[in-house]
Amino acid sequence: MAIARPVRALALAAALVWCFFIWQLLSPSGTAMTKDKYLSFERDPNLDPTGEPEGNLVRASEDYAPGATNSARINATLLALVRNEELEGMLQAMRDLERTWNHKFNYPWTFFNDVPFSEEFKKRTRAVTKAEVRYELIPKEHWEMPSWINQDLYDESVKMLEEKKIQYADKISYHQMCRWNSGMFYKHPALANTQYYWRVEPNVHFFCDVDYDVFRYMHDNNKTYGFTINLYDAPASITTLWPETEKFLAEHPEYVHENSAMNWLTDKTRRPDHTKDANGYSTCHFWSNFEIGDMNFWRSKAYEDYFNHLDRAGGFFYERWGDAPVHSIALGLFEDSSKIHWFRDIGYQHIPFFNCPNSPKCKGCVTGRFTDGEAWLNREDCRPNWFKYVGMG
Ligand code: GDP
Ligand code: MN
Repeated sequence: MAIARPVRALALAAALVWCFFIWQLLSPSGTAMTKDKYLSFERDPNLDPTGEPEGNLVRASEDYAPGATNSARINATLLALVRNEELEGMLQAMRDLERTWNHKFNYPWTFFNDVPFSEEFKKRTRAVTKAEVRYELIPKEHWEMPSWINQDLYDESVKMLEEKKIQYADKISYHQMCRWNSGMFYKHPALANTQYYWRVEPNVHFFCDVDYDVFRYMHDNNKTYGFTINLYDAPASITTLWPETEKFLAEHPEYVHENSAMNWLTDKTRRPDHTKDANGYSTCHFWSNFEIGDMNFWRSKAYEDYFNHLDRAGGFFYERWGDAPVHSIALGLFEDSSKIHWFRDIGYQHIPFFNCPNSPKCKGCVTGRFTDGEAWLNREDCRPNWFKYVGMG
């Protein structure tokens, strides 16, 4: 029996739709179906309306005017390690932070560099803020590869890291930068009388008006560290970081805080392959290009001993230990986890990730969007683990 032409057409259309569906499911990237596969199962809390944090907040006033005698500012600074060549990106980041926050509070900016800042850098950065600006050279002994690092072993290690596609493995300055951010910046003499810092990188964006003194918030609410984004790291860049940490803890069990975030550090349920490849550490870390912190934590005996242990082990050079996992592990172990604060109200971007709250105070980012890069980048989000083990405080 012949099949009527409209029925044949319908069958063909159905077959085509089916093929399209299968193709969507199996194609490697970029299509709607695969995107869904990488989305977190959890609802992004940034979709919920976000206001200011609870507690006593100190507002802008004339006591925050630049150069005010008896200013309301506390011992704190905006802080950036930056190269002369990154001037344009630095100006952009400064303009964002000045517009959304610092023009109200006028905290000083402190710039660090391993070579002297150019006159142009100084002139143009001074021009975008009313606040005091300081330019500091990093002492050689804080920047150079330490004497105990073996050059041949370093060269060999770089080759192995490159085979594992670890970005920047061959860039010695990147290793130096990570080490400086881990254990050196707060030892710079220019910060000797400064307690709190807000780390800023060139090219980052700030999207939301923040109308309270963030440093006073840290101080008044007894917070040690504030973050915006939590990410997984590349396990191959930190293969021996957790084993070294365990060795350290065997010598110093007394440093682990009774309310530590150990569960968060060692979670092996959400991304078991990562925890296995990093030998016990989930690789979840506070993304440290944004940090608001109390340097007394880095200056504590526990952290100093821990950093020295890691530094001697050599992984800043033989692997590519970042300051983000090093800071995160130390905070997760030695600090009361309730003193670590998620600044959900600070809209932030460092390519390719965002913290974009749902608030009328924010402009220029998409509420709840975690990345504007490829869909698979959503898998790098590990905020749900922090919320699960510690909370959203
Ligand atoms: P990424 O975010 O991990 O890709 O690393 P970046 O290239 O953004 O570097 C992190 C921060 O350190 C940025 O603020 C850079 O400006 C700064 N930085 C990195 N390497 C150097 C360096 O060799 N000298 C100086 N002065 N700053 C550096
Ligand atoms: Mn960066």
